[in-house]
Amino acid sequence: MKNRANSLNIFGPCALESYEQISEVAAMLFRQGIPYIRTQLYKPRTSPDSFQGLGKDGEAILKQLRETYRDDQLKFVCEACSIAQLAVIAPWASIIQIGARNMQNFELLKAVGPVIHEKTEYVLLKRGFANTVEEWLESARYLIQSGVPKEKIILCERGTRSVTSPTGVQMDFIAALAAKKAGFAVILDPSHGTKKAEYVAPVAKACLALGLDGIMIECHPEPKKSVSDAAQALSIEEAENLIKESLHSATND
Ligand code: PEP
Ligand code: MN
Repeated sequence: MKNRANSLNIFGPCALESYEQISEVAAMLFRQGIPYIRTQLYKPRTSPDSFQGLGKDGEAILKQLRETYRDDQLKFVCEACSIAQLAVIAPWASIIQIGARNMQNFELLKAVGPVIHEKTEYVLLKRGFANTVEEWLESARYLIQSGVPKEKIILCERGTRSVTSPTGVQMDFIAALAAKKAGFAVILDPSHGTKKAEYVAPVAKACLALGLDGIMIECHPEPKKSVSDAAQALSIEEAENLIKESLHSATND
C-alpha cells in the first residue's frame, strides 16, 4: 500500500502573481502535506503583449513565504527560459523546470549541470508539444552530459498538439510510459495537457492510474482572475479535493 502524496506531485499557479495568491496555495499544500509548489517568475508567452512574469521582483514574495514555511515544508519549483534566468533561480529552486518550448534549447540544457548544487533536488524537463520521445530523451542526455545525475531528472509529459481534440491538445500516455522505460522518473501535466479546468481532475486520475511518479497541476485562489492559463486553473478547493481523493487514498500498486 502506498500514499501517493509522497510522490513527485507539484501544484501551484501558472505564474507567481502576488503574496496573497501564492500564500493561499501554500497554506492548502501545507495542510495536505504536499511540499512542491509552482513559483514561476518567468513565463514563456505566445504573445509579447501577455504578462511575462514578475521576474526577479518575485523573489521578494518567495522570501516572505520562507518566513512561514521551512525549506523542507515548502519546496519551490521554477522555470528558467534562459541562462540568465537559470542563474537567478538556481540558488533556491528545489526543482529547476525546463519548459516545453525550451526542450531543444541545447545551450540552456548545457548550462544546467554547472549551476546545480546539493539543494537542487531535481531538474524537470518537459516534452515539447511536437517533439518525439527520442528527441526528449536526447535532450535529457544533454542534461546528463552537463553534469545532472540521471536520478535527478524528472521528465514531464504535458500533452501534444492535436487537430482532433476539442481543446487542441491531448495527453500522450504512451510517450510517458516509453520515457519511464528509459529509466527516468516521469510525471504528467494534465493542466497543459487538457487546457480546460473541467477535464483536469478526471485526466489527472487517469494519469495517476498509469502508476508513474506524479502529476503537476495548476491552481489559483481565483481561477478566472489568473493572469495566464485561466481556463485550465483549478480553484484551491478543487485542487485540495483532487489531492484528498487521489493522492491520500491508499493504493495497492
Ligand atoms: C508551465 O508549466 O509553466 C509551462 C509553461 O508549461 P509548458 O512548458 O508545458 O507549456
Ligand atoms: Mn500554465
